[in-house]
Amino acid sequence: MSKISVKNPLVNMNGDEMARVIWDKIQNEIILPHIDLNLINYDLSIKSRDETNDKITTEAARQINKVKVGVKCATITPDEKRVKEYKLKKKYPSPNGTIRNILKGTIFREPIIINKIPKIVNHWNQPVIIARHAFGDIYRSKEISVKKKGKLTICFEDEEGNKEEKLIHDFDSSGVGLAYFNVNDSIYDFANSCFNYALIRNLPLFLSTKNTILQKYDEAFKEIFDEVYKKFQIRFEENNLTYQHRLIDDMVACLMKWSGGFLWACKNYDGDVMSDLVAQGFGSLGLMSSVLQSPDGKILKTEAAHGTVTSHYRQHQNGIQTSTNPIASIFAWSKALKHRGELDSNLDLNKFAQNLETICINTLNEGYMTKDLALMCGPEQKWVTTNEFFEIIKHKVEN
Ligand code: NAP
Ligand code: MG
Repeated sequence: MSKISVKNPLVNMNGDEMARVIWDKIQNEIILPHIDLNLINYDLSIKSRDETNDKITTEAARQINKVKVGVKCATITPDEKRVKEYKLKKKYPSPNGTIRNILKGTIFREPIIINKIPKIVNHWNQPVIIARHAFGDIYRSKEISVKKKGKLTICFEDEEGNKEEKLIHDFDSSGVGLAYFNVNDSIYDFANSCFNYALIRNLPLFLSTKNTILQKYDEAFKEIFDEVYKKFQIRFEENNLTYQHRLIDDMVACLMKWSGGFLWACKNYDGDVMSDLVAQGFGSLGLMSSVLQSPDGKILKTEAAHGTVTSHYRQHQNGIQTSTNPIASIFAWSKALKHRGELDSNLDLNKFAQNLETICINTLNEGYMTKDLALMCGPEQKWVTTNEFFEIIKHKVEN
């Protein structure tokens, strides 16, 4: 069979440990034998980042900005232990954070739903996609420990030296305090990303806040979303889609009541917490995909939501066969290929990517799966090794 040719390139970012082992297999055994693809490769492994003083991460992000599509393997975000393990020059920041700051996008996390795999929340039969506004709030806050009687205030001073100050609390005794912020530009980007992604995925959009309590802070999110929605309203109505703001507590109750099938725009902390809750509710990290999309909806970086699966890598290093789930990584490739296909109007490429996803879903439904998923199905369910699973997928893609 002749290979599918692809006109424009794709940025391929390799990573670390077991995720990297899987990554190489996907590339070499599933994608490249069938697609004539111009990959612009960046090695984002921890060693390569150390050798380049992390410049490689910035270069990769700039390249994604140019070619509009990137696919990324999981990478180590070093902590003190990793600095020692790899004798690193410094504790580099998370590559995902660096790339996000350059693309200014929003991360959307979406579960891959497989009928055969039981879910903790049984009636969630359509995906819940979480969009997290990954900027500001408690993650950029300043805290204070109050040790004695006294006043805690918050103060804004403009460039002319004019001050606006508010009393937060008049302490009688010890306690704690906190101040945090956000910026409207980032909230506009977030809103644009969310409305664009809802249209792309044909899903209704909900924004949650606590604007009854935070009548300036959270209200700003609601007002900006309302304003941006005006630009999208006609397209939403044409596609029978809706946008709604809901209080976070109401939204959490709806999440449990509903069967999925919506995009949920969360503030930073809510997104952090809810994305883990939703991942668990749907089952396994090995079935959670993640995309970073620019505000205009044109640039896409895809990846698996899980990490480098260090525990499995240790087995692999000792020559032990692992049973590591490659589905989320394969979907990172299929989603990136689909985006390339849409930008280039390359129907064959889209068909290949869609077919690859269908093959993965069917294979799991037929009962061939890795150990993480088999454990969810119960003691009767057999599982295959990483290599055996790849053989099955590879064979199906070839035929
Ligand atoms: P992890 O790699 O996601 O693994 C946590 C556990 O989840 C694994 O030990 C494994 O459980 C299970 N698991 C995750 N993915 C799996 C898969 N595909 N197949 C089967 N089981 C899977 O998270 P971590 O251990 O906290 O982090 C390891 C490294 O990854 C860290 O250095 C961290 O910095 C990095 N990380 C990177 C990203 C990213 O690049 N996006 C995200 C998160 C973490 P069992 O051991 O029970 O089998
Ligand atoms: Mg979290």
